[in-house]
Amino acid sequence: MTDERSLGSSYILEDVIGRGAMGQVWRGRDRDGHRLAFKLLRPELTEDPKVVQRFVQERSILTSITHPNVVSMRDLVVEGDTLAIVMDLVEGGDLREMLSGPRTLPPARVAELGAGIAAGLAAVHAAGVIHRDVKPENVLVDAVSNPGRPRLTDFGIAKYVQAEGTGGRSTMLVGTPQYIAPELIDGKEPTPATDLYALGIMLYELVCGVTPFAGGSTLTVLRNHAERLPGRPAGVPDSLW
Ligand code: ADP
Ligand code: MG
Repeated sequence: MTDERSLGSSYILEDVIGRGAMGQVWRGRDRDGHRLAFKLLRPELTEDPKVVQRFVQERSILTSITHPNVVSMRDLVVEGDTLAIVMDLVEGGDLREMLSGPRTLPPARVAELGAGIAAGLAAVHAAGVIHRDVKPENVLVDAVSNPGRPRLTDFGIAKYVQAEGTGGRSTMLVGTPQYIAPELIDGKEPTPATDLYALGIMLYELVCGVTPFAGGSTLTVLRNHAERLPGRPAGVPDSLW
């Protein structure tokens, strides 16, 4: 039978469609039948009421961001110890899954994806929000269009929610070592430029199959961001490079 359950007074959760570092993702609908996705954050991530309060305070900014290359956050629901992010339902998987078969994508497709993601990022920045965790896992590919349209998700969330294994909630280094801009390693605050740096790393990965500073310990990766330039593998066309 069905595992349907209600969330707040407005939503119905139907089934789990994904699991990530932050919790479970459900498919569901609102009372009018509109299809939606719901990210239910793990309680450990939201146990500090002050953190939740700040997150909820930014709800109106976060939910105001609508753009074809963004997965809009529609609502934020706090119910008991559940914090749920209500967002557009995007069927088609994420960029990481897209890379799991071929490992790299053709230059023209990378350029197209890059332009779309950059446009989405610009919309996020225009609202005064910094994404803080740009990486292939946070780009969903909307299979409604062909080829799939990239849509940026999880913007701004890393500020409130610390993913597993990256230390305490107050650490500056939110994000994933492979995509972290050198100035963050120096303890500076994230800016739109740090998101663009991560986008650049991600585009490199789509073309080359690996991030430029992959391999070695986290410390080595971080040092290489600051001290080295990415290598250029054979076969990357001049215009794309
Ligand atoms: P986390 O950021 O917590 O690691 P993800 O955002 O990667 O988790 O979500 C886990 C999975 O849930 C994704 O791989 C994807 O399959 C699914 N998912 C996440 N957001 C959506 C969405 N808006 N629409 C459809 N599926 C989604
Ligand atoms: Mg994510």
